[in-house]
Amino acid sequence: MTRPFELSDPVRARQLADAIAILAPPTLVKIVHVCGTHEMAITQNGLRRFLPDKVEVLEGPGCPVCVTPTADIDAVVQIAEAGAIICTFGDMTRVPGTRLTLEQARSKGCDIRVVLSTAEAVNIARETDREVVFFAVGFETTTPMTAAILLDDPPKNFSVLVSHKKIPEAMAILLDLPGTNISGYLAPGHVSTIIGLAPYEQHLGKFNIPIVVGGFEPLDILYSVALILRQIRDGKGFVENGFPRAVADKGNMAAQILIETVFESTEVQWRGIGAIPDSGYRLRQEFAQFDARERFHIEGETGDEKIPGCRCADVLTARATPADCPLFGTRCTPLSPVGPCMVGTEGACSIWFRYGGRERP
Ligand code: SF4
Repeated sequence: MTRPFELSDPVRARQLADAIAILAPPTLVKIVHVCGTHEMAITQNGLRRFLPDKVEVLEGPGCPVCVTPTADIDAVVQIAEAGAIICTFGDMTRVPGTRLTLEQARSKGCDIRVVLSTAEAVNIARETDREVVFFAVGFETTTPMTAAILLDDPPKNFSVLVSHKKIPEAMAILLDLPGTNISGYLAPGHVSTIIGLAPYEQHLGKFNIPIVVGGFEPLDILYSVALILRQIRDGKGFVENGFPRAVADKGNMAAQILIETVFESTEVQWRGIGAIPDSGYRLRQEFAQFDARERFHIEGETGDEKIPGCRCADVLTARATPADCPLFGTRCTPLSPVGPCMVGTEGACSIWFRYGGRERP
Protein backbone atom coordinates (compact mmCIF):
# COMPACT_ATOMS: atom_id res chain seq x y z
CA MET A 1 0.00 0.00 0.00
CA THR A 2 1.27 3.48 -0.83
CA ARG A 3 2.07 5.53 2.26
CA PRO A 4 -0.07 8.67 2.59
CA PHE A 5 1.92 11.85 2.10
CA GLU A 6 2.86 13.55 5.36
CA LEU A 7 5.08 16.58 5.72
CA SER A 8 7.14 15.09 8.53
CA ASP A 9 7.59 11.44 7.70
CA PRO A 10 10.99 10.03 8.76
CA VAL A 11 10.51 6.90 6.65
CA ARG A 12 9.84 8.97 3.54
CA ALA A 13 12.85 11.18 4.36
CA ARG A 14 15.09 8.09 4.60
CA GLN A 15 13.70 6.78 1.30
CA LEU A 16 14.42 10.09 -0.40
CA ALA A 17 17.93 10.28 1.07
CA ASP A 18 18.58 6.73 -0.19
CA ALA A 19 17.23 7.63 -3.63
CA ILE A 20 19.46 10.70 -3.74
CA ALA A 21 22.49 8.60 -2.80
CA ILE A 22 21.71 6.15 -5.62
CA LEU A 23 20.97 8.86 -8.22
CA ALA A 24 23.98 11.07 -7.41
CA PRO A 25 26.69 10.80 -10.05
CA PRO A 26 30.33 10.37 -8.99
CA THR A 27 31.19 13.86 -10.26
CA LEU A 28 30.36 17.12 -8.50
CA VAL A 29 26.77 18.28 -8.95
CA LYS A 30 25.99 21.88 -8.14
CA ILE A 31 22.32 22.60 -7.56
CA VAL A 32 21.42 26.25 -7.12
CA HIS A 33 18.21 27.56 -5.61
CA VAL A 34 17.15 31.18 -5.74
CA CYS A 35 15.13 31.58 -2.61
CA GLY A 36 15.92 32.58 0.96
CA THR A 37 13.04 30.43 2.17
CA HIS A 38 14.64 27.39 0.55
CA GLU A 39 17.99 28.25 2.14
CA MET A 40 16.32 28.65 5.51
CA ALA A 41 14.58 25.26 5.22
CA ILE A 42 17.75 23.53 3.99
CA THR A 43 20.04 25.00 6.63
CA GLN A 44 17.67 25.08 9.59
CA ASN A 45 16.73 21.42 9.03
CA GLY A 46 20.28 20.30 8.32
CA LEU A 47 19.26 18.88 4.94
CA ARG A 48 22.80 19.09 3.54
CA ARG A 49 23.65 16.21 5.88
CA PHE A 50 21.27 14.06 3.82
CA LEU A 51 23.20 14.78 0.63
CA PRO A 52 26.29 13.00 -0.67
CA ASP A 53 29.48 15.07 -0.49
CA LYS A 54 29.46 15.56 -4.25
CA VAL A 55 25.98 17.11 -4.27
CA GLU A 56 26.29 20.77 -3.43
CA VAL A 57 23.24 23.00 -2.93
CA LEU A 58 23.84 26.75 -2.84
CA GLU A 59 21.70 29.87 -2.70
CA GLY A 60 22.02 32.23 -5.64
CA PRO A 61 20.31 35.61 -6.03
CA GLY A 62 17.32 34.55 -3.96
CA CYS A 63 17.15 37.24 -1.31
CA PRO A 64 15.33 40.36 -2.58
CA VAL A 65 16.95 42.54 0.05
CA CYS A 66 20.43 41.33 -0.94
CA VAL A 67 20.01 41.95 -4.68
CA THR A 68 18.53 45.44 -4.33
CA PRO A 69 21.22 47.67 -5.85
CA THR A 70 22.95 50.46 -3.99
CA ALA A 71 21.50 52.95 -6.49
CA ASP A 72 17.96 52.17 -5.29
CA ILE A 73 18.96 52.58 -1.63
CA ASP A 74 20.61 55.89 -2.53
CA ALA A 75 17.46 57.04 -4.35
CA VAL A 76 15.25 56.27 -1.35
CA VAL A 77 17.67 58.01 1.03
CA GLN A 78 17.58 61.05 -1.27
CA ILE A 79 13.76 61.08 -1.19
CA ALA A 80 13.76 60.69 2.60
CA GLU A 81 16.14 63.62 2.92
CA ALA A 82 13.71 65.65 0.79
CA GLY A 83 11.13 65.18 3.57
CA ALA A 84 8.97 62.26 2.42
CA ILE A 85 7.87 59.44 4.71
CA ILE A 86 9.51 56.22 3.50
CA CYS A 87 7.69 52.94 4.09
CA THR A 88 9.49 49.67 3.52
CA PHE A 89 9.98 46.15 4.83
CA GLY A 90 12.20 45.80 7.91
CA ASP A 91 15.35 44.31 6.46
CA MET A 92 15.65 47.04 3.84
CA THR A 93 16.47 49.64 6.50
CA ARG A 94 19.88 48.06 7.17
CA VAL A 95 21.13 47.50 3.62
CA PRO A 96 24.18 49.65 2.82
CA GLY A 97 23.82 52.52 0.39
CA THR A 98 26.71 54.60 -0.90
CA ARG A 99 26.42 57.11 1.96
CA LEU A 100 23.78 55.81 4.35
CA THR A 101 21.47 52.95 5.19
CA LEU A 102 17.83 53.91 5.74
CA GLU A 103 18.38 53.21 9.44
CA GLN A 104 21.23 55.75 9.46
CA ALA A 105 19.04 58.21 7.55
CA ARG A 106 16.41 57.79 10.28
CA SER A 107 19.01 58.58 12.95
CA LYS A 108 19.67 61.84 11.08
CA GLY A 109 16.00 62.81 11.32
CA CYS A 110 14.43 61.19 8.24
CA ASP A 111 11.01 59.57 8.66
CA ILE A 112 11.54 55.89 7.84
CA ARG A 113 8.77 53.47 8.76
CA VAL A 114 8.75 49.68 8.68
CA VAL A 115 5.52 48.22 7.27
CA LEU A 116 4.32 44.68 6.71
CA SER A 117 2.40 45.38 3.50
CA THR A 118 1.82 47.89 0.72
CA ALA A 119 -1.67 48.43 2.15
CA GLU A 120 -0.17 49.61 5.45
CA ALA A 121 1.86 52.24 3.56
CA VAL A 122 -1.31 53.45 1.82
CA ASN A 123 -3.07 53.74 5.18
CA ILE A 124 -0.22 55.93 6.43
CA ALA A 125 -0.65 58.12 3.33
CA ARG A 126 -4.38 58.45 3.99
CA GLU A 127 -3.68 59.83 7.47
CA THR A 128 -1.23 62.56 6.47
CA ASP A 129 -0.79 65.40 3.99
CA ARG A 130 2.91 64.55 3.64
CA GLU A 131 4.32 62.60 0.72
CA VAL A 132 4.53 58.87 1.45
CA VAL A 133 6.78 56.64 -0.66
CA PHE A 134 6.62 52.87 -0.58
CA PHE A 135 9.96 51.23 -1.40
CA ALA A 136 8.65 48.24 -3.34
CA VAL A 137 11.11 45.36 -3.33
CA GLY A 138 10.69 41.66 -3.90
CA PHE A 139 10.14 39.12 -6.62
CA GLU A 140 6.98 37.98 -8.39
CA THR A 141 5.37 37.14 -5.05
CA THR A 142 5.16 40.76 -3.88
CA THR A 143 4.77 42.52 -7.23
CA PRO A 144 1.03 41.71 -7.55
CA MET A 145 0.36 43.35 -4.15
CA THR A 146 1.95 46.59 -5.32
CA ALA A 147 -0.04 46.40 -8.55
CA ALA A 148 -3.31 45.79 -6.69
CA ILE A 149 -2.77 48.83 -4.49
CA LEU A 150 -2.12 51.10 -7.47
CA LEU A 151 -5.32 49.85 -9.11
CA ASP A 152 -7.29 50.65 -5.96
CA ASP A 153 -7.18 54.43 -6.19
CA PRO A 154 -4.45 55.27 -3.64
CA PRO A 155 -4.25 58.84 -2.30
CA LYS A 156 -2.44 61.44 -4.36
CA ASN A 157 0.36 61.82 -1.78
CA PHE A 158 1.28 58.14 -2.23
CA SER A 159 3.95 56.96 -4.67
CA VAL A 160 6.13 53.91 -5.20
CA LEU A 161 9.84 53.46 -5.81
CA VAL A 162 9.74 50.26 -7.84
CA SER A 163 12.55 47.78 -7.27
CA HIS A 164 10.63 44.56 -8.03
CA LYS A 165 12.54 41.86 -9.89
CA LYS A 166 11.92 38.75 -11.96
CA ILE A 167 13.59 35.48 -11.05
CA PRO A 168 13.79 33.41 -14.29
CA GLU A 169 15.74 36.12 -16.13
CA ALA A 170 18.35 36.20 -13.35
CA MET A 171 18.56 32.40 -13.33
CA ALA A 172 19.34 32.50 -17.05
CA ILE A 173 22.04 35.15 -16.70
CA LEU A 174 23.80 33.14 -14.01
CA LEU A 175 24.26 30.27 -16.44
CA ASP A 176 26.22 32.57 -18.75
CA LEU A 177 28.52 33.93 -16.06
CA PRO A 178 32.01 32.42 -15.87
CA GLY A 179 32.64 30.05 -12.98
CA THR A 180 29.04 29.40 -11.93
CA ASN A 181 29.06 25.75 -13.19
CA ILE A 182 25.41 25.12 -12.34
CA SER A 183 24.14 21.57 -12.91
CA GLY A 184 20.49 22.27 -12.14
CA TYR A 185 18.09 24.68 -10.50
CA LEU A 186 15.70 24.19 -7.61
CA ALA A 187 13.12 26.81 -8.62
CA PRO A 188 11.17 28.71 -5.95
CA GLY A 189 7.73 27.30 -5.20
CA HIS A 190 6.11 30.56 -4.10
CA VAL A 191 7.28 32.53 -7.15
CA SER A 192 6.08 29.64 -9.28
CA THR A 193 2.58 29.79 -7.78
CA ILE A 194 2.38 33.19 -9.49
CA ILE A 195 4.27 32.72 -12.76
CA GLY A 196 3.71 28.99 -13.41
CA LEU A 197 6.22 27.04 -15.48
CA ALA A 198 6.27 28.91 -18.81
CA PRO A 199 8.77 31.67 -17.87
CA TYR A 200 11.34 29.04 -16.87
CA GLU A 201 10.85 27.26 -20.19
CA GLN A 202 11.08 30.57 -22.06
CA HIS A 203 14.28 31.82 -20.41
CA LEU A 204 16.06 28.62 -19.41
CA GLY A 205 14.89 26.01 -21.90
CA LYS A 206 17.83 26.51 -24.25
CA PHE A 207 20.33 25.53 -21.54
CA ASN A 208 19.00 21.97 -21.25
CA ILE A 209 19.57 21.67 -17.52
CA PRO A 210 17.09 20.39 -14.92
CA ILE A 211 14.79 23.07 -13.50
CA VAL A 212 12.60 21.59 -10.77
CA VAL A 213 10.05 23.70 -8.90
CA GLY A 214 10.25 22.82 -5.23
CA GLY A 215 8.16 23.37 -2.13
CA PHE A 216 9.53 24.42 1.23
CA GLU A 217 9.03 21.49 3.55
CA PRO A 218 12.17 19.36 4.06
CA LEU A 219 10.54 16.45 2.20
CA ASP A 220 9.60 18.76 -0.71
CA ILE A 221 13.22 19.83 -1.03
CA LEU A 222 14.67 16.32 -0.85
CA TYR A 223 12.08 15.20 -3.41
CA SER A 224 13.02 18.02 -5.79
CA VAL A 225 16.73 17.28 -5.39
CA ALA A 226 15.98 13.66 -6.29
CA LEU A 227 14.07 14.81 -9.39
CA ILE A 228 17.02 16.98 -10.46
CA LEU A 229 19.45 14.10 -9.99
CA ARG A 230 17.15 11.77 -11.92
CA GLN A 231 17.14 14.19 -14.87
CA ILE A 232 20.94 14.40 -14.72
CA ARG A 233 21.22 10.61 -14.61
CA ASP A 234 18.91 10.32 -17.62
CA GLY A 235 20.81 13.00 -19.56
CA LYS A 236 17.75 15.26 -19.59
CA GLY A 237 17.15 18.90 -18.79
CA PHE A 238 13.62 20.24 -18.63
CA VAL A 239 11.22 22.15 -16.38
CA GLU A 240 9.49 19.86 -13.91
CA ASN A 241 6.90 20.65 -11.28
CA GLY A 242 7.98 19.08 -7.99
CA PHE A 243 5.40 21.06 -6.01
CA PRO A 244 2.10 20.27 -7.75
CA ARG A 245 0.03 20.54 -4.58
CA ALA A 246 0.59 24.32 -4.71
CA VAL A 247 1.87 25.24 -8.18
CA ALA A 248 -0.40 25.10 -11.21
CA ASP A 249 1.47 24.84 -14.49
CA LYS A 250 -0.10 28.12 -15.66
CA GLY A 251 0.43 29.88 -12.32
CA ASN A 252 -1.97 32.43 -10.91
CA MET A 253 -3.56 34.13 -13.91
CA ALA A 254 -5.28 36.82 -11.81
CA ALA A 255 -1.94 37.86 -10.29
CA GLN A 256 -0.27 37.81 -13.71
CA ILE A 257 -2.98 40.14 -15.07
CA LEU A 258 -2.46 42.52 -12.15
CA ILE A 259 1.26 42.70 -12.87
CA GLU A 260 0.72 43.08 -16.61
CA THR A 261 -1.85 45.86 -16.15
CA VAL A 262 0.35 48.05 -13.97
CA PHE A 263 3.95 47.22 -14.93
CA GLU A 264 6.07 46.71 -18.00
CA SER A 265 9.38 44.88 -18.12
CA THR A 266 12.63 46.77 -18.10
CA GLU A 267 16.33 46.23 -17.57
CA VAL A 268 17.30 46.62 -13.92
CA GLN A 269 20.44 46.35 -11.83
CA TRP A 270 20.96 43.39 -9.52
CA ARG A 271 23.50 43.83 -6.77
CA GLY A 272 26.37 41.43 -7.36
CA ILE A 273 25.34 40.68 -10.93
CA GLY A 274 24.83 43.96 -12.77
CA ALA A 275 22.22 44.93 -15.34
CA ILE A 276 19.92 42.16 -16.59
CA PRO A 277 17.62 42.91 -19.55
CA ASP A 278 13.88 42.65 -18.82
CA SER A 279 14.51 41.39 -15.30
CA GLY A 280 12.52 44.08 -13.51
CA TYR A 281 9.56 46.35 -13.78
CA ARG A 282 8.67 49.97 -14.30
CA LEU A 283 5.24 51.52 -14.04
CA ARG A 284 3.28 51.82 -17.25
CA GLN A 285 2.61 55.36 -18.46
CA GLU A 286 -0.96 55.26 -17.10
CA PHE A 287 0.50 54.91 -13.59
CA ALA A 288 3.40 57.35 -13.99
CA GLN A 289 1.81 59.73 -11.45
CA PHE A 290 2.66 57.18 -8.77
CA ASP A 291 6.32 56.87 -9.80
CA ALA A 292 8.46 58.22 -6.94
CA ARG A 293 11.46 58.55 -9.23
CA GLU A 294 9.56 61.03 -11.41
CA ARG A 295 7.87 62.80 -8.53
CA PHE A 296 11.18 63.45 -6.76
CA HIS A 297 13.26 63.93 -9.91
CA ILE A 298 15.66 61.09 -9.20
CA GLU A 299 18.32 61.25 -11.89
CA GLY A 300 20.10 58.26 -13.39
CA GLU A 301 21.43 55.34 -11.45
CA THR A 302 24.75 55.53 -9.67
CA GLY A 303 25.67 53.79 -6.44
CA ASP A 304 28.94 52.22 -5.44
CA GLU A 305 28.49 48.45 -5.06
CA LYS A 306 31.98 47.71 -3.78
CA ILE A 307 32.30 46.83 -0.11
CA PRO A 308 35.96 46.07 0.68
CA GLY A 309 36.50 42.41 1.55
CA CYS A 310 32.84 41.41 1.10
CA ARG A 311 32.16 38.47 -1.22
CA CYS A 312 28.42 39.06 -1.57
CA ALA A 313 28.76 39.25 -5.35
CA ASP A 314 30.20 35.72 -5.38
CA VAL A 315 27.63 34.44 -2.86
CA LEU A 316 24.75 35.93 -4.87
CA THR A 317 26.00 34.26 -8.03
CA ALA A 318 26.57 30.91 -6.28
CA ARG A 319 30.31 31.10 -6.89
CA ALA A 320 31.09 31.11 -3.17
CA THR A 321 29.54 29.94 0.05
CA PRO A 322 29.27 32.36 2.97
CA ALA A 323 32.06 30.38 4.66
CA ASP A 324 34.36 31.26 1.75
CA CYS A 325 34.28 34.92 2.83
CA PRO A 326 37.12 35.84 5.22
CA LEU A 327 34.84 38.27 7.04
CA PHE A 328 32.11 35.71 7.74
CA GLY A 329 31.40 35.44 11.45
CA THR A 330 34.32 37.65 12.39
CA ARG A 331 33.97 41.21 11.15
CA CYS A 332 30.60 40.42 9.59
CA THR A 333 27.72 39.17 11.76
CA PRO A 334 23.95 39.84 11.78
CA LEU A 335 24.47 42.39 14.57
CA SER A 336 27.19 44.14 12.61
CA PRO A 337 26.67 43.26 8.92
CA VAL A 338 29.26 44.31 6.37
CA GLY A 339 27.36 43.25 3.26
CA PRO A 340 23.69 42.80 2.32
CA CYS A 341 23.82 38.98 2.49
CA MET A 342 24.29 39.28 6.26
CA VAL A 343 21.47 41.83 6.58
CA GLY A 344 18.41 40.15 5.14
CA THR A 345 16.88 37.29 7.09
CA GLU A 346 16.79 35.50 3.72
CA GLY A 347 20.44 36.26 2.96
CA ALA A 348 22.71 33.23 2.76
CA CYS A 349 25.34 34.67 5.10
CA SER A 350 22.77 35.57 7.73
CA ILE A 351 21.17 32.11 7.54
CA TRP A 352 24.52 30.28 7.68
CA PHE A 353 25.60 32.40 10.65
CA ARG A 354 22.40 31.62 12.56
CA TYR A 355 21.98 27.95 11.66
CA GLY A 356 25.29 26.69 10.27
CA GLY A 357 26.10 25.77 6.69
CA ARG A 358 28.42 23.26 5.08
CA GLU A 359 31.96 23.70 3.81
CA ARG A 360 32.49 22.83 0.17
CA PRO A 361 33.57 19.25 -0.50
S1 SF4 B 1 30.02 37.32 5.27
FE1 SF4 B 1 29.49 39.50 5.20
S2 SF4 B 1 31.16 40.45 4.10
FE2 SF4 B 1 31.24 38.24 3.67
S3 SF4 B 1 30.03 37.95 1.80
FE3 SF4 B 1 28.66 37.67 3.51
S4 SF4 B 1 27.74 39.68 3.84
FE4 SF4 B 1 29.56 40.00 2.58
